[in-house]
Amino acid sequence: MQKGFYLLVVMLSLLVIGVFRHSNVTEAMVDQSNDRVFLFSLTNALLAGEYGGGTTFGELRQHGDFGLGTTAELNGEVVILDGKFYEITATGKTPQINDSVRAPFAAVKFFSPEQIQALKEPLTFQQLEQRLNTFIPTKNRFYAIKIQGVFSYIKARSSRRQTKPYRPLAEALKDAAIFEFRNIRGTMVGFYTPGYMNVLHSPTYHFHFISDTRQGGGHVLECQLQNVSVAIDSASQLELELPSTQEFYKADLSNPPQPQ
Ligand SMILES: [Zn+2]
Repeated sequence: MQKGFYLLVVMLSLLVIGVFRHSNVTEAMVDQSNDRVFLFSLTNALLAGEYGGGTTFGELRQHGDFGLGTTAELNGEVVILDGKFYEITATGKTPQINDSVRAPFAAVKFFSPEQIQALKEPLTFQQLEQRLNTFIPTKNRFYAIKIQGVFSYIKARSSRRQTKPYRPLAEALKDAAIFEFRNIRGTMVGFYTPGYMNVLHSPTYHFHFISDTRQGGGHVLECQLQNVSVAIDSASQLELELPSTQEFYKADLSNPPQPQ
């Protein structure tokens, strides 16, 4: 019943976006508002092992200058910051991604924050989330969040390249590379996704990190930070593009195993 309702909400949202798309004037207004999160595929497809890469980073560039995701075959964690696309691979390298590289999942947005907060005190990841909860006006919207400053500790992960037949994400992540950084300047890019959208993007906070020197990063597992600025950009619209691959058509997306 609940799932049916949420699917209905998503379908109605897609319908509304579809209607806008038929009007050039309205579409221009929507783009100008910077009020839309664009999702390529959904978390449940990644969890189910859909790593083939249904879009390109050239396509994703049309939908935002900020975000995160993964590259085809789960080759690395993606950070999108100021219009530049970086891939953090299991070797720890962070090359820029060219437009022809394929992505099986990404969340992007044109970043336009409504509020910037300074956090001076030392905070753990859990404490950071509690502070972010006080900044966001409602838990029922999407937010893009950028956190910049000094991180006294970051524990981050990068998946390792997978080969077919793809294992579910919970299995594939068991041999992910783990990186630890101390006293490092950098940026966490991420999203808040409401709990009721959990099949689309992992709730609630999901961050990827990249150092200022662009020499390290990954999917954030733990952090301790102090003296950072937090920029928050809320979104009331969601555009969801589903992959057009045979693998996606045949995948069972209803209840994939969850990583620990
Ligand atoms: Zn991630």
